[in-house]
Amino acid sequence: MKQGLIGKYRAYLPVTGSTPVITLGEGDTPLVHAARLGREIGCDQLFLKLEGCNPTGSFKDRGMVLALAKAMEAGSTTVICASTGNTSSSAAAYAAHAGLRAVVIIPHGYVALGKLTQVLVHGAVVLSVNGNFDEALASARSLADSYPVTLVNSINPFRLEGQKTAAFEVVDELGDAPDYLCIPVGNAGNITAYWRGFREYKAAGKAQRTPHMMGFEALGAAPIVNDRVITKPATVATAIRIGNPVNWQNAVRARDESGGTIQAVSDEEIIKAYQTLAATEGVFAEPASAASVAGLLKLHREGLDFSGKRVVCVLTGNGLKDPDAAIAHSPRPIEVSADPAAIREVLGWE
Ligand SMILES: *Cc1c(COP(=O)(O)O)cnc(C)c1O
Repeated sequence: MKQGLIGKYRAYLPVTGSTPVITLGEGDTPLVHAARLGREIGCDQLFLKLEGCNPTGSFKDRGMVLALAKAMEAGSTTVICASTGNTSSSAAAYAAHAGLRAVVIIPHGYVALGKLTQVLVHGAVVLSVNGNFDEALASARSLADSYPVTLVNSINPFRLEGQKTAAFEVVDELGDAPDYLCIPVGNAGNITAYWRGFREYKAAGKAQRTPHMMGFEALGAAPIVNDRVITKPATVATAIRIGNPVNWQNAVRARDESGGTIQAVSDEEIIKAYQTLAATEGVFAEPASAASVAGLLKLHREGLDFSGKRVVCVLTGNGLKDPDAAIAHSPRPIEVSADPAAIREVLGWE
């Protein structure tokens, strides 16, 4: 039986004897050596952390398992969140598992099909509001302030605590922290959580060093890069379509303390990386996830030398989350009759 994060890393988590140990098998995700992609940038130690292999298909499960356990410990019966998708998928699944009610507020028209499907099947109360993510979050916050329900957005401190375990896994597997960690940035909770995890592991003597944190926003949704709130964020990468990140200052701190960078990548670069990952490495990640690889390729083009370096790219979510994006950026099937001769002809086989 898979132990789950709370069981495995409890010494590093804010759990007590009365915190219920729940799990859907989150964490312990694959760290895959990307030899072919690595060769393109002269790096023989490039690794992909496949967070899409979590139970609901994104890293959000790491934080959600702890947020739900702590909500149960506090006697809460309902959780609420605003979400561009994966937070709500995860909240809905873990609430169902724990026997709590979930209320999710999603911005109308901005949620990928796979994520919407998940919240519906898990039986959450789904409210689709007119407005973007930042407005949906404001509503969820205000409701949680006036009613006895637990807010499980990344403002919930237990979310980041759970998410930092991904950094522990990277170190446990590589034997030390990598030189560079590339990661997509939306609300900037994940970059904050990884940085915390790497620092805590170093302090505990589990790692000798910490990585340079390399964060990537989408060009049309890059508040940190531009140092101003973006009121109408726009990008194909819906999971990072955020104009006013909750963890803005924490991300800036992670960048500066680690000697890293936060930059923007265009939708074109994101889609190119998305296709390359699928076609070159056999890894199908959602568009937002590909921002980490798009950013790595961009830094390489700009002359950053990755030879002899260890690089980890975090692929935050599963490609099946957003089938519309996948189909829009893939070739159509070839229509042909079932006759082997016709198929041979299409394939060019003599
Ligand atoms: C939530 C999410 C992100 C952004 O993470 P933040 O912590 O908001 O920066 C990126 N990719 C995917 C797939 C996500 O679900």
